Amino acid sequence: MRCRGAVTALVAILATARPLPGQGTAPATGNEFADVHFHLTNYIQEGTDVRDFLQIMGKRAVRSTLFGIPLQQTWSHENSGDYAPTYYLQTDAPLYYYSFTDAFIAMTYRSLKPEERARLDPMITGFNPADMYAADHIRRVLKTFPGVFTGIGEFTIHKEFVSSKVAGEVASLTDPALDRILDLAAETGLVVLIHNDMDMPFAKAGTEPVFLTQMKALLRRHPKSTIIWAHMGLGRVVRPVQASASAPAAERNPNHGVIVEGILSDPTLRHVYFDISWDEVAKYLLATPETTRRAAALIDRYPDRFLFGSDVVAPRDTAQYYAVFEMYRPLWHQLKPKTGEAVRRGNYERLFDAARQRVRAWEKAQGW
Ligand SMILES: [Zn+2]
Repeated sequence: MRCRGAVTALVAILATARPLPGQGTAPATGNEFADVHFHLTNYIQEGTDVRDFLQIMGKRAVRSTLFGIPLQQTWSHENSGDYAPTYYLQTDAPLYYYSFTDAFIAMTYRSLKPEERARLDPMITGFNPADMYAADHIRRVLKTFPGVFTGIGEFTIHKEFVSSKVAGEVASLTDPALDRILDLAAETGLVVLIHNDMDMPFAKAGTEPVFLTQMKALLRRHPKSTIIWAHMGLGRVVRPVQASASAPAAERNPNHGVIVEGILSDPTLRHVYFDISWDEVAKYLLATPETTRRAAALIDRYPDRFLFGSDVVAPRDTAQYYAVFEMYRPLWHQLKPKTGEAVRRGNYERLFDAARQRVRAWEKAQGW
């Protein structure tokens, strides 16, 4: 989930973009990427018509996930009067879980021709992860709309400015309700796309990321689920952890890259992947030539474990949609060609093709 805005300034890059490796000097040739993180609708359940989105995808985006945003921003007249908020930062009124989003996404998908559907992977999001009944909702959605969904998410546990605004019980990584959800994902084969800030906003350098231990424990409890950790655990003000320069070397906490590599190299976490979606994440990874080089080196060491996503919300046009992909061009140029191909589309195709097969087989076994 993100706000629009910053990306529009990047449109200028489009004009001067160098071709990707293997594309020669020709303009975009198509089939450039699959998008693991795409919001068709926004915080008031409005957005892009799916046919317009297919046009925007054109030949460049070969496939995409399809989901809205499970949280609906309340328009409280008491709070903002006649001003109708469309984003969670525009009012103090609470957000609430809007389960109808799943029916909306399913009906939208079903309205398409088979060849159009083949390009999209709808995701279930309209459940409250702090509710023990959330898994039952997911099961009900699959039963009501068999043949539609490939995964669950993006759903959120900890997110700067958002978690505290959600009406009702606060979500937690230690909540058994979340374990039930991930158990069902393992049973059905649904891919999981989870947003969970690794750290609190504006954390001090050299401190252990506050949600890291709980997150790793959660991931370890569900080795049979395919789990994609969105945004590499980062946020707009949840910055990559910095090692404290002043602390003695032996006591120094690792920086964000080392933490991510620790997860990737852990044999108990082989089912965990990272998406690099969101222009805010691109800003961190590409902050300097040195950070870009380090990000590329890390991804090259684990080419099967990273996926590109845009995290664009309800795009109005192609410029807005492609801005994040274009922003990543310095990374695309540094990655080994095979790694770049895997991150841009190969990993998506592998994970989501397998999930489609498994979920369809599971539905069939239920007699749906
Ligand atoms: Zn997110």
